[in-house]
Amino acid sequence: MSANLHSNCIFCKIVAGQIPSRKVFEDEEVLVFHDIAPWAPVHVLIIPKQHVTTMYDTTAEHGALLGRMLAMAPRLMEQLGVTNGFRALVNTGPDGMQEVQHVHMHVMGGPRPWAKG
Ligand code: 5GP
Ligand code: ZN
Repeated sequence: MSANLHSNCIFCKIVAGQIPSRKVFEDEEVLVFHDIAPWAPVHVLIIPKQHVTTMYDTTAEHGALLGRMLAMAPRLMEQLGVTNGFRALVNTGPDGMQEVQHVHMHVMGGPRPWAKG
């Protein structure tokens, strides 16, 4: 299944395999991989394979996808050995400090202290 590739988007390049990543999970709709600069002992990013720039660009049609992304977080964390809690967040837009312009959910866990957050 081909994703909606944006040629200048680093996460689209990861989806396409043009940039390597440490993948945790993948299906037709989503990709999960380890953040390259983790804030916490376990820090993964859950992204839709389809390019969506920010949460402002989502519609009601994205509801099921966004729900799946959030709902898979606890299972992923358990699989990665995180059983004492985690944080899930989506940075959005300039004031939200979103650096990569492809919607992604950070999921972070593991023993504290963490580098950030
Ligand atoms: P944002 O600030 O946009 O919410 O977060 C973007 C995240 O993507 C950052 O935590 C950053 O470390 C991560 N990141 C940026 N480029 C890459 C990359 O090429 N590979 C991986 N695995 N993570 C990346
Ligand atoms: Zn993209």
